[in-house]
Amino acid sequence: MQLIPCPWCGPRDEPEFVYGGEPAVRPIPAGSVSGEVWSDYLHFRTNTKGRARELWCHSAGCAQWFLLERDTVTHAIYAAIKPGATA
Ligand SMILES: [Zn+2]
Repeated sequence: MQLIPCPWCGPRDEPEFVYGGEPAVRPIPAGSVSGEVWSDYLHFRTNTKGRARELWCHSAGCAQWFLLERDTVTHAIYAAIKPGATA
């Protein structure tokens, strides 16, 4: 079982977490962007092969969301970053 390092709680078992997808910047104001831009935001992801940043939530623990930098091929974890932190 893989351990994921929650920035607040430390390493915990992977089933305690929920994957939130790739971080994306919501187009604003949402009502004035084109349908194509909105569709891209909703439906298209890069699906990076290799080192990537993802949103994760420690749903069975502190319920905090954070960025997890990991390798999608090897599952190596490089960093767990609190929202607003620079890394
Ligand atoms: Zn936590």
